[in-house]
Amino acid sequence: MDIWSKQKRSEVMSRIRGKNTKPEMILRSQLFKRGFRFRVNKKDLPGKPDIVLPKYQTAIFVHGCFWHYHKDCREGRIPSTNTKFWKEKLERNIAKDEKNVEALKLKGWNVVVVWECEIENKLEETLIDLTKRIKS
Ligand SMILES: [Zn+2]
Repeated sequence: MDIWSKQKRSEVMSRIRGKNTKPEMILRSQLFKRGFRFRVNKKDLPGKPDIVLPKYQTAIFVHGCFWHYHKDCREGRIPSTNTKFWKEKLERNIAKDEKNVEALKLKGWNVVVVWECEIENKLEETLIDLTKRIKS
């Protein structure tokens, strides 16, 4: 069931390992530079948001485009083999994400999702937008 090239596989596997993935680290250090102080991987909140800014009651998720099925994104695609399996799996992930966002909002949190491709491809823009959304 080898659906990826070797390179793609190791890329994906390194993302599965999850915490402290590169785009997330980039985002953290940029936020820190801009004076934001935060907690990471807060386990007592729905969905364990990647970055939490208590002062702004804001929770940030850094979503991998493949695993969270980023719409209109090159990485957010269902693999062409084992399509049914992947489609169901990725749709479950999305449903879980939506549930977590709702639960956080009910608790009064401002929730922001940042996609890895945004951090990788347009960091400045993403940070400007994110800063606005943190403070709103
Ligand atoms: Zn994406």
